[in-house]
Parts: sequence; structure tokens; C-alpha cells
Amino acid sequence: MPTAEYTETDRNLDRERAKETSEKIKKEVSEFKENFKCERCGKCCEEGVGVALWPHEFARLRKIEKHIFQHITFINNWHALKLPCVFYNQKKHKCRIYEQRPIACRMYPLGISPDGSSMLSQNCPGAKK
Ligand code: SF4
Ligand code: SF4
Repeated sequence: MPTAEYTETDRNLDRERAKETSEKIKKEVSEFKENFKCERCGKCCEEGVGVALWPHEFARLRKIEKHIFQHITFINNWHALKLPCVFYNQKKHKCRIYEQRPIACRMYPLGISPDGSSMLSQNCPGAKK
């Protein structure tokens, strides 16, 4: 389980790792998204095991949602948003924190496999076309 203590050094390392990972897959994601049409079905915000968060993202979301711990699960020892996501507006089919949404949400339906390569979700109707 992650410890409660999260130091400035951890924060800087996580930012660096997040940046490196983002750079690595940015091109791939952007090429994929050029041809991807989201159907706005909401499945990615409502169904699944959760949305894994980088520690700096979790720290940011804690400031937005004061009861965040009620909406958190763990995936491989990472904090993750439970689904349905607390930030999803089901009536409007919109993310309430769209401009601040986690990297995992920005990438979806692509995800990162344990070896660092990208993988395509099988749960997204738009990705099957
Ligand atoms: S599951 Fe796929 S098609 Fe549905 S809202 Fe998410 S990204 Fe769009
Ligand atoms: S943060 Fe926004 S985009 Fe990500 S799962 Fe929650 S509602 Fe959906």
C-alpha cells in the first residue's frame, strides 16, 4: 500500500516520470486520435476497474474534491478513481474537470501496458470501428 507521506522529491520524480511517459506516447496518441471518433457513450467514465492516477494528479484532485477518498480505489498500488467517476456528470454526459482530467482519461481508449507500450481498450465502442 502507498504510504501517506508524499515528499517534494517524490513529487518532482513523479512529474519527471509523467513527462517522460507523456512524451514517449504523445505522437502515438495523437496519430490514433486523428482517426478516432468518440461516441460520447460515457462508458469510460462509468464502467471499469478505475482510472489510475499519477501521485501529482491525485494530489491535485484532492484539492478539487474534499471527499476524494470515498471515490478512490487502488490499481497495482496506485490511487485510482472509482467508476462511475465522481467527476462525471451523467445527465450532461460531461466531465466536470475536463481541463484538469488525468492523463489516463486524455489517452483513453489507449492505455499503457506494463512494458510501457500503448494498448487499446476493448471496452470502447469508438475504438472498435
Ligand atoms: S468509451 Fe469510448 S466512445 Fe465511449 S465515451 Fe469513452 S472514449 Fe468515447
Ligand atoms: S476524470 Fe473526467 S474524463 Fe476522467 S473518468 Fe472522470 S469524468 Fe471521465
